[in-house]
Amino acid sequence: MPAETSTQELIARRNRLLGPAYRLFYEQPVHVVRGEGVWLHDAAGNRYLDAYNNVACVGHCHPHVIEAIARQAAVLNTHTRYLHETILDYAERLLATFPAEIGQAMFTCTGSEANDLALRVARTCTGGTGVVVTRTAYHGVTGALAELSPSLGLPEPTAPHVRLVPAPQSAGDETGEIFASGVRAAFADMARSGIRPAALLVDTIFSSDGVFADPPGFLRPAVEATRAAGALFIADEVQPGFGRCGEGMWGFARHDVIPDMVTMGKPMGNGHPIAAMAARPELLKEFGARSRYFNTFGGNPVSAAAGMAVLDVIERESLIENARRTGTDLRTRLTALRAKHELIAEVRGAGLFIGVELRRGGAPAVAETAKLVNAMRRRGVLISAAGPGANVLKIRPPLTFGSEHTDLLVETLDQALQEI
Ligand code: PMP
Repeated sequence: MPAETSTQELIARRNRLLGPAYRLFYEQPVHVVRGEGVWLHDAAGNRYLDAYNNVACVGHCHPHVIEAIARQAAVLNTHTRYLHETILDYAERLLATFPAEIGQAMFTCTGSEANDLALRVARTCTGGTGVVVTRTAYHGVTGALAELSPSLGLPEPTAPHVRLVPAPQSAGDETGEIFASGVRAAFADMARSGIRPAALLVDTIFSSDGVFADPPGFLRPAVEATRAAGALFIADEVQPGFGRCGEGMWGFARHDVIPDMVTMGKPMGNGHPIAAMAARPELLKEFGARSRYFNTFGGNPVSAAAGMAVLDVIERESLIENARRTGTDLRTRLTALRAKHELIAEVRGAGLFIGVELRRGGAPAVAETAKLVNAMRRRGVLISAAGPGANVLKIRPPLTFGSEHTDLLVETLDQALQEI
C-alpha cells in the first residue's frame, strides 16, 4: 500500500474512532513507527530530526531507561499502599535536586494531575480559591486546569476565580516590575470581587505564551506580590524542568525564587507516564491532616525505575551542560539568521528551550509561521509554534542534541525561510 494512501486511511480511522477533539501536527501528519535518539522514523522509511519533543529528553528509546523499565516490570509492579523502596530511593534523589525548603514529593501520572493536586493543596492551605495565570497559559486537561488554560481557546474570563495577566515582556521589563504589577492588579481585582487568593501558577519558561526566559530573576517581584496577597507560588516545571534550561534542573532556579510547590512531568520518565508535585512539608502537613491521597498508578515501582534511569542519564551524559552549550550555540546561529531573513524578529530562550518570534511589518507573521513549520516538516525537521498569535517557532529537542543536529536544523530553517 502506498505510504500516502495509508496515511489518509489512518487519519480517517482516527477521526472515526477518537472523535474530533484530537489534533494532529502538520498539514501532512507524520506516521511515526520508530524513535532513536534525536531521530523519528516514519512508515515510509523517512527520518526526521526531532527538535520538538521535550518528553524524550534523553533521546528516544534510550537503552538505559528501557532496560530499567523492563527489569522492574519483570519483577514487580504495584501501587503505593504497599511498602517498596524504589519510590523512596527516587523521591530522595529527586528532592536532592531542589532547595532544602522543598522537602516532600507526591507522585502522579501526568502533569495535569500534578497541577490539580497543587491547586487542591493551595486551596486547602490558603482557604482561598483565586488563581492567577498568564494570558496564553496551558496547565492541563482536568476541569479545574482547563479553566486555568486560556490557550485552549475557551471563552474569557475562563471562570470567576481566575485572573489572567499579560505574559512577561521580552524587553523593557528587566526588573520584572511590569509583570509583577499585572500580578498585583490581578490579586487586587480578585479581592474587590470577594475572592480569596490561592495561587500564582506559572510555567517558568512561559512556553505557550511564546517562551520568555530573560533576564533571569524577572519572576522574583511577581512571587513577592503573590505572597503579599496571601497566595502561594506554584512553579509549573512540566516544560522547562529536568535540565532543559541548561542551568541546574529547574526553570525557577534561574529566577532565584523558591516556590511553595513545584509540578513536573513530561520528560520525567522519558515517555513513561510519571509526574509529581513537590512541596514545602508544612503545606503537606496541613493538606494531609485534612485529606488522604492515593493515586493507583502514580509512583509505582516501574515508574520510579524509569524516573531514576532518566536522572542517571542526565548525570552520566552531562546533559544539562550539553543543553547549555548546544542551546547557546543554536540561539547564536538562529540570531545570525536574522541578518538574512527579516521575518525573524527575536530569538529567545534558555538552554534547549528556544522561541523564535516571526513578524512581518511589525505584526505577528501568523500565516508565515504555519508555512514555515510545514516547510520544515517536509524537509525532515520537526518543530512547532506557540504564543498568542502562534507566531513563535518553538524548538525543544532532546537534550542529547549535538552540533551536527544544530547544523542541520539551522541550514534547514535557512532553506525553509527562503522557500516561503
Ligand atoms: N503544564 C504545562 C506547562 C504543560 O505544557 C503541560 C502539557 N503540555 C501540562 C502542564 C500538562 O501535562 P500532561 O499533558 O502530562 O497532563
